[in-house]
Amino acid sequence: MNYHISKRAASLSPSLTLAIDSKAKAMKAAGEDVVGFGAGEPDFDTPQHIKDACSKALADGFTKYTPSSGIPELRQAIADKFQRENGLTYKPSQVIVSCGGKHSCYNVILATCEEGDEVIIPAPYWLSYPEMAKLAGATPVVINTSDKTEFKVTPAQLRAAITPRTRLFILTTPSNPTGSVYTPEEVKALGDICVEKGVLIMSDEIYEHLLYDGAVHKSVASFSPAHKDHTIIVHGFAKAWSMTGWRLGFLAAPEPIAKAIDAIQSHSTSNPTSFAQKGGVAALTGPQDHLPKWLAEYAKRRTYAWQKLNSIPGISCVNSKGAFYLFPNISQVGLKSADFCARLLEQEKVAAVPGIAFGADDYLRISYATSLANIEKGLDRLEKFVKGLNK
Ligand SMILES: *Cc1c(COP(=O)(O)O)cnc(C)c1O
Repeated sequence: MNYHISKRAASLSPSLTLAIDSKAKAMKAAGEDVVGFGAGEPDFDTPQHIKDACSKALADGFTKYTPSSGIPELRQAIADKFQRENGLTYKPSQVIVSCGGKHSCYNVILATCEEGDEVIIPAPYWLSYPEMAKLAGATPVVINTSDKTEFKVTPAQLRAAITPRTRLFILTTPSNPTGSVYTPEEVKALGDICVEKGVLIMSDEIYEHLLYDGAVHKSVASFSPAHKDHTIIVHGFAKAWSMTGWRLGFLAAPEPIAKAIDAIQSHSTSNPTSFAQKGGVAALTGPQDHLPKWLAEYAKRRTYAWQKLNSIPGISCVNSKGAFYLFPNISQVGLKSADFCARLLEQEKVAAVPGIAFGADDYLRISYATSLANIEKGLDRLEKFVKGLNK
């Protein structure tokens, strides 16, 4: 049977991260000693009080449909979070709870972009953004950056990329895959241009709380009412509360956009899982004392990995200021990133994600959301691999 696959679906690139990940998992299952640097999720457990709130919701029979954009209690808790932490006033009606931050991103793109529209995406990018733009019929316009600017887009680059068809600029700080963090001044400069040109900003702030070396996060929405009117913030519970499997994310948007997203969500997924939402309320309103402990642990691993990577001939790595990734430059090694990662996995049983997956072939993504012992072992092997190539 010759099945028709829609142009929309056929245009998507298969996920390289998932391919590497499934190969690594298969090797592990076969009993091989694989070290994984591929993880895009914290290695810590969800804090107990959050799990308890979810268990209680289940025990209480909170297992039915909820309003499709989330329970009022959670939308209020999210609005309170934006007020408390970001100085941003949103009504609960401007907050939409979705099935993960990824779903929030997709909703935003679907609600604002269409055929012929352009979406500006700085590279290295989170690999789903261009595919989401394509799913909406829009055209991804990639701005390349490098480690020379800590992977940050300059105002001149953004200005040059904007055309009359530009609908959306995607800003991710702290960044996945690079861990770089824009300073408040840099964020404002980019925001100013979008306000001037009438371009919407999708600001992905899911790593807001994962910062090192005194780095500061300031939302682009917070610089003026005009900035706020041009911004949709996407966020979620996956990273700072280690709730990746819960599938719970949220966004805050100008009222008409929130309304459009509410309509899309009500006809596609309906509400995010009812009892997961109760966990979300506990995450936002309960104690946050897990976070300093996690950050201290991440910071230790980051420093070790950054120093070790820079000690390997042919590899150079700028230090990250946020999230849990490093993005070392391998251009001196003489292998394309996909080849590098395939051979690294084959020969040394180390799984890393090739930069090409994020639109940056000179690099690898190393996640340090794994134990220090694993990081030591894995980077020793990576060193052996690179030295072997140079012989
Ligand atoms: C992890 C992540 C998300 C959201 O992940 P969910 O699991 O869908 O909540 C969004 N943006 C970036 C850049 C991420 O790394």
